[in-house]
Amino acid sequence: MHASISQQNTNDRTAIVIGSSMAGLLSARVLADYFARVVVVERDTLPQEPQTRTGVPQANHVHVLLTQGKRILEKLFPGIDSEIKEAGAPKIDWAKEYALFGFWGWHPHIESDLITHTCSRAFLEWLVHRRLLSFDNVKFLEKTQVQELLSDESNSQVKGVKVYHLDRHQEEELTADLVVDASGRNSQARNWLKSMGYQTPEKTEINSFLGYSTRWYERPQNLEVNWQALGVLSKPPHNKRGGVLVPAEGNRWIITLGGIGKDYPPTDDKGFLEYARTLRNSAIYDLIKDAKPISKVYGYRRTENCWHRYEKLARLPDGLVIIGDAVCAFNPIYGQGMTTAALGALTLQKCLQKQFSGSNYTIVGLAKKFQKQLAQVLKTPWLMATSDDCRWESTEGGKPDTMTRFMHKYMDEVMLLSTRQPKLHRTFFEVIHMIKPPAALFAPGIVLGVLGQVIRAKINGNSRKVLATSTEVLS
Ligand SMILES: Cc1cc2nc3c(=O)[nH]c(=O)nc-3n(C[C@H](O)[C@H](O)[C@H](O)COP(=O)(O)OP(=O)(O)OC[C@H]3O[C@@H](n4cnc5c(N)ncnc54)[C@H](O)[C@@H]3O)c2cc1C
Repeated sequence: MHASISQQNTNDRTAIVIGSSMAGLLSARVLADYFARVVVVERDTLPQEPQTRTGVPQANHVHVLLTQGKRILEKLFPGIDSEIKEAGAPKIDWAKEYALFGFWGWHPHIESDLITHTCSRAFLEWLVHRRLLSFDNVKFLEKTQVQELLSDESNSQVKGVKVYHLDRHQEEELTADLVVDASGRNSQARNWLKSMGYQTPEKTEINSFLGYSTRWYERPQNLEVNWQALGVLSKPPHNKRGGVLVPAEGNRWIITLGGIGKDYPPTDDKGFLEYARTLRNSAIYDLIKDAKPISKVYGYRRTENCWHRYEKLARLPDGLVIIGDAVCAFNPIYGQGMTTAALGALTLQKCLQKQFSGSNYTIVGLAKKFQKQLAQVLKTPWLMATSDDCRWESTEGGKPDTMTRFMHKYMDEVMLLSTRQPKLHRTFFEVIHMIKPPAALFAPGIVLGVLGQVIRAKINGNSRKVLATSTEVLS
């Protein structure tokens, strides 16, 4: 059994977490250091082996844990990266071994410390759950659905949750000092707050109408290539289709095709292959046309960016915090969800540390402080996801202003420059992997490089040609 590591955990506090997916699991890990009991309430039965479950249907699709997310996970669960590796998850250096066909052709390869082991989402979640089972103060209540919040008479403090045991068909009231809502995109927190007499938070939604189709393949034996994963980007304003190939444990490839603006990839065998053939580069099609599929084709269309602005509410009850997709869900194409959930858990950790420092044992004030700090953390991934989505005419909920249009142009130039400058390619990936802030792409050397490129293009008649469209640059 893993004893809680914090000396502060000599208390009688209880925390309840709603949802046992990534945000819930990582929150539970953090709470275990500050609460005598942590109860994770989950609607589903949690699988004994890695497998997709009803509450997390997105697990059938490619799930890249960005380098920042991996580092946080390792901090929270020391040694977990080795466990992922031991399960057969391939190691990838993202600046060197991710063959990327970007807006202007293939990007160069350069060594970096952006190293992760790519695995299936089901395996990752199963592993984190298993690690948490060894904490003696963390318990899982499966097949149990949270129905509503319990509060004190004045509705100023959440006191627990009312649950429904799906197997026993019984209701029960569970009391807690803190409730963490990590129930994902369909969180009922805004309705629960409303029924307690609070305002519902402002909701910002930006939808590029992206659809995914994913199929799993056996990695062909004897394939010798200098990359581990491969991506072909869509290119605004007209090329709406993109795709990725990411390896996973068990010698498998996960192929996810995506189409923006309702140009949804089909979910039948032939249609899936045909769609892959129509990407801006045929590399993925060439690789899978003769490979052995080992799954059906899964579809997914719930991909809008959606941010509930709880931090802006004048009043929030104490004893409730909202985290993960329940607060802010992103267009998954940028792979930010799990890493942002991990950053959210670290934010909770910081807030709890401060809250319970010295002789203070009250939960009062935590909720508001947490939601405000979380909002700061969410700003950058939100900007990265939504600004790019606004490049598409068909996107609803946000149109690019002058500044955003300038940023799009600047980023196009950065992408072009990075096809010739491996170091810039690496910086670009450090930003994508949330290791460096986007401001890193505005370093003086990069701005000068972009300016030089623009001036040269003007002199040469503004030519911008895609560097390569075939697979020949891959080996
Ligand atoms: C197609 C797709 C691809 C993605 N790809 C990536 C990627 O490559 N990289 C990445 O980092 N992220 C990716 N994401 C995002 C990622 O899946 C989420 O951000 C991440 O899982 C964190 O979500 P969450 O834990 O907040 O909520 P969810 O994963 O939605 O989990 C919510 C949990 O709460 C449970 N629950 C809900 N309501 C109740 C209730 N009332 N009572 C009890 N339990 C309840 C559900 O059963 C579920 O277990 C992708 C998402 C999608 C849709």
